[in-house]
Amino acid sequence: MMAEMVHVVVVGGGYAGVMAANRLAGSSAVPRVQVTLVDPGEHFTERIRLHQVAARTRDSAGVKWAEVLHPQARHLPARAVSIDAGHRTVALADQESLHFDWLVYAVGSGEQATPLLSVTNAEAATTTAKAIAELVSGSTVTVAGAGPTGVEVACAMAVSRPDLAITVVAPSGLGHPLTGAPAVARRLERLGIRVMDGTVDPATGVVATAGANSQPAAEATIWTVGLAVPTVAADSGLPVAEDGRLLVDATLTVAGHERILGAGDAVTVQGAAGTHLRPSCASAIPLGAHAAGVLLARLAGTAPAPIDIGYLLQCLDLGVGHGHVQIVHPDDTVRRWALTGRAGGWAKEQVCRMTVGWLAKEARRPGSYTWPSGPTAALR
Ligand SMILES: Cc1cc2nc3c(=O)[nH]c(=O)nc-3n(C[C@H](O)[C@H](O)[C@H](O)COP(=O)(O)OP(=O)(O)OC[C@H]3O[C@@H](n4cnc5c(N)ncnc54)[C@H](O)[C@@H]3O)c2cc1C
Repeated sequence: MMAEMVHVVVVGGGYAGVMAANRLAGSSAVPRVQVTLVDPGEHFTERIRLHQVAARTRDSAGVKWAEVLHPQARHLPARAVSIDAGHRTVALADQESLHFDWLVYAVGSGEQATPLLSVTNAEAATTTAKAIAELVSGSTVTVAGAGPTGVEVACAMAVSRPDLAITVVAPSGLGHPLTGAPAVARRLERLGIRVMDGTVDPATGVVATAGANSQPAAEATIWTVGLAVPTVAADSGLPVAEDGRLLVDATLTVAGHERILGAGDAVTVQGAAGTHLRPSCASAIPLGAHAAGVLLARLAGTAPAPIDIGYLLQCLDLGVGHGHVQIVHPDDTVRRWALTGRAGGWAKEQVCRMTVGWLAKEARRPGSYTWPSGPTAALR
């Protein structure tokens, strides 16, 4: 007699999707779980290193699928177009649609939000690298946004192209809780990066500053403001937030669709358990693991646990071995301690290596990855 088998389709092979796929593919659940990971990429993309690709301090952020994906999870190189929740199918671009028993939605936030240069996905980072390479010495570069990505891009560029005039533009300068640390401002100053209060037109790169005439666009403008999510959930008629993120509850499940779960940047977790979550690799990995756990609990007929995800750190790569690693409370609010300079750079690099390491380890030993408890546990 053939053993019963359920088919799980994981849409999106970033940090969340790969973690979910690995945990599911390696589970000893009954019925057996067959996993298909749908992702158009030739390889897994270490998105947190894309600023380095754009600045040419690194050739690629690609990692072979075989290094991070469980051998029993099948990678299907395809792009999902829409999800038919009623018929349990996923429509794919240029391929036959795929049936699923369960689905994990993990398409991330790598959409190109504007025609300007960006580092939001591998293709965009490569385009940016080429555009910057063509700039002659003394050219001006605007980095739109002074959040972590903007500051990482600016520092990486300033290190690889010290001959460029780089300005970071944001409405309140380095007002972000992480990039606002004095040590970060000092590092930018040392690298010759200007920081300006203003806004950048997402269509043209023209800079508007309070009380002054707008300034013409720089020779290159790199957009790093916010993270734009794919429209697959919205196009499928699934419940989404205003920004297109799939709405899920604390068990990462879509209301009214028990067999559709979501994880990573592409979802908004409704309710108290999700209020402190920030779109990040630091959230995507535990969310992916938790989505797999919920699915396995349902297969076993047990009640799934709500998420309770805590944070330890917020990190910044400030170029050639420099960094800033801020220690945080489980709810992501900052503690007093931070590692700066080369110590911060060393710690940041270890964190980057750990992210891929956790995926690879989960591929070999499913269930091995654990994460810190969040604010709910901290309050108990
Ligand atoms: C330059 C840069 C630096 C960053 N640094 C940090 C950092 O230091 N720390 C941190 O925590 N976070 C950082 N982030 C944010 C972090 O990269 C994201 O939050 C994280 O990648 C989200 O993981 P994810 O699995 O949800 O999605 P992603 O990693 O975005 O992966 C989603 C995957 O889904 C695929 N996909 C998209 N649409 C479809 C579709 N229709 N069908 C099939 N597949 C699809 C994509 O190709 C991609 O492979 C950084 C981001 C950038 C751009």
